[in-house]
Amino acid sequence: MAYAKQYSIDHKEERKARKHEYDKINRDRNREYYVVWYKKNGRNRADNYLEKILEWNETFPRRKAMHRKLYRAIKAGKVTRPEICPNCGRSAKIQAHHVNYEHFMNFVWLCASCHKREHNDNKA
Ligand SMILES: [Zn+2]
Ligand SMILES: [Zn+2]
Repeated sequence: MAYAKQYSIDHKEERKARKHEYDKINRDRNREYYVVWYKKNGRNRADNYLEKILEWNETFPRRKAMHRKLYRAIKAGKVTRPEICPNCGRSAKIQAHHVNYEHFMNFVWLCASCHKREHNDNKA
């Protein structure tokens, strides 16, 4: 069945090429979306909205990778998710808030409402 094998190899390449194309389109679409979004909503768009987009593009994949790593560490039992929020002492679903994205362990545990507040405070 040499033919069938060859066929699947050809297809693999084709699929890879197609995925690449798809990623590229997706990336461009995302960029367009954020350009429009910042034009509409960006407060200081005149001086830094492009910069913000670049920043977002830079941090987003990193953030995803960090969460993936942290999740793996939790699964592996290397990190334990507390039952109580270390900030307010409430018992709730605790989320990881990354202080920065230099390392996946640079995070603090926060309940959903503390987490939300943390992000709002940072914005102000
Ligand atoms: Zn809390
Ligand atoms: Zn956060």
